[in-house]
Amino acid sequence: MTSLDRPTTADSFDVAIVGAGPTGTALANLLGRHGLAVAIIDRNDGILQIPRAVHIDGETMRAFQQMQLHRQMLQVFRPGHSMHWVDASGETLLVRTGLEGLGPQGWHNDYYFHQPALEQVLRDGLARYPSVQLIERTEVTGHSEDAEGVTLSLHDLRDGRRPLRCRYLVGCDGARSIVRTWLGDEHEDLGEHQAWLVVDAVLDHPLPLPEHTVQHCDPARPATSIYVHPLRRRWEIMLLPGDDLQTITEPANVWRLLERWIKPGQGELERAATYVFHSLVARHWQRGRLMIAGDAAHQTPPFLGQGLCAGVRDSVNLGWKLAQALRAPAAAAALLSTYGPERTPHAREFIALAVEVGRIIQVTDQAEAVHRDERLKAQGLKFAFPTPTLGAGVHRGSHPVCGKVFMQPQLPDGRWLDDVAEQRFCALLAERPDAPAAASISTAHLLAVADAGDATRAWLAEQGALAIILRPDGYVFDVCHDTQSLHATLAALHGWLAGPSATG
Ligand SMILES: Cc1cc2nc3c(=O)[nH]c(=O)nc-3n(C[C@H](O)[C@H](O)[C@H](O)COP(=O)(O)OP(=O)(O)OC[C@H]3O[C@@H](n4cnc5c(N)ncnc54)[C@H](O)[C@@H]3O)c2cc1C
Repeated sequence: MTSLDRPTTADSFDVAIVGAGPTGTALANLLGRHGLAVAIIDRNDGILQIPRAVHIDGETMRAFQQMQLHRQMLQVFRPGHSMHWVDASGETLLVRTGLEGLGPQGWHNDYYFHQPALEQVLRDGLARYPSVQLIERTEVTGHSEDAEGVTLSLHDLRDGRRPLRCRYLVGCDGARSIVRTWLGDEHEDLGEHQAWLVVDAVLDHPLPLPEHTVQHCDPARPATSIYVHPLRRRWEIMLLPGDDLQTITEPANVWRLLERWIKPGQGELERAATYVFHSLVARHWQRGRLMIAGDAAHQTPPFLGQGLCAGVRDSVNLGWKLAQALRAPAAAAALLSTYGPERTPHAREFIALAVEVGRIIQVTDQAEAVHRDERLKAQGLKFAFPTPTLGAGVHRGSHPVCGKVFMQPQLPDGRWLDDVAEQRFCALLAERPDAPAAASISTAHLLAVADAGDATRAWLAEQGALAIILRPDGYVFDVCHDTQSLHATLAALHGWLAGPSATG
């Protein structure tokens, strides 16, 4: 089925996505699973062969599972086991924890990779969906909106100009997003604007260096050394006042900066480029039929490796909401208006932490560095990633997990919840005499699970809860303690999914 039974034509789509980077292709894969007619448009021909991201977290890996691309991703990923912050002498200041074994999302908490390889998996995934059309070498240059949809102006770099019609438009068009300018180009600036040199090297043989990421908090030259896989390493090196940005990327200068780790003859410099790391959050993520996602909506310094992860989270948040908005137009406005308010504080929390971590690493004053090192060693700090709460939106209830991502349960038959849920809401029920029969509350949009495995059973018992209701993206809609509150929650959920006429 394509397009939820509405007529579409060669130039008319349910959703048009501007930008076929990781955010846009992730969204197109999710919408393709829903059978939607999607146009994904990029000015480039093929994948950008620029290695930027090297790390994702377990929640992002879970998103790839929801796209049914996890097996292919595992072919190009390496699980990460540790990250250390060290002082100028190499002594450990801070250790990232929680990296052993499978994490709460059912995946390792960290994976390392080469971004073009990840993007190739996402691109290949699109071929599974005849209703998804990738339009390359085509620039989006303008738009107009009316009550029924959006008309885009396309500039096909071979065939000239043509229009394209869609019900909804998502700008996944990166840091210089044109779609963001259509929403009112305002942002919140969290204050980081530091220039760094980024170098990727392909090795002849593995180097005798740590097999984990090391943040060198060396005031003489702050740097990050990243083990991507045995034959690929990344170095990110802070640029200092005195560095010449015109010549710093010349091979002789790059080798000089890398000499503490690698020498010419041990590998090839694949790429050296300078970046200014920003920390920005757009103020307007959605208006009517227009939305933005990924770097178009936020930019973070890469100290936590979270930019691409945030873009994939945006896509997952939007994916089920757009599918439902197209299925139930009465629900569309309310549902889509929650996208920005939910995602903004979540993305901001990671960016603010990345800025804070950057401030620890980027100290260049010797006396300040001594003070920082003493403070961190005295505190014996372990460092863990946050699990931020979504802003107000499609979740309710006062339990602290509401609006947070929940663990992915493994069911007693060994299957993982997301493989069974298939992008539906889920009610995970406790084993209690007052628990309703799962079949009695399951609907087309909600799967009730009578036994979601030991970990969930233990969690529900600990909370004295009758059920936890999860959204298709794994975030908690509500926690219910008795049948009355469960029925009120299911009615509220029905209101969100069907629109005001259903509640009224
Ligand atoms: C040095 C560095 C290290 C990083 N490390 C990490 C990391 O370890 N982990 C992590 O999660 N993130 C990391 N990131 C961030 C990550 O690379 C980005 O967040 C991610 O690539 C953003 O994806 P996107 O799809 O939103 O945008 P992009 O990848 O920028 O894609 C946007 C696409 O839109 C297209 N486009 C733009 N305008 C138009 C138009 N008008 N018409 C048609 N097409 C258009 C462009 O051609 C492009 O293909 C890093 C970034 C850098 C620079």
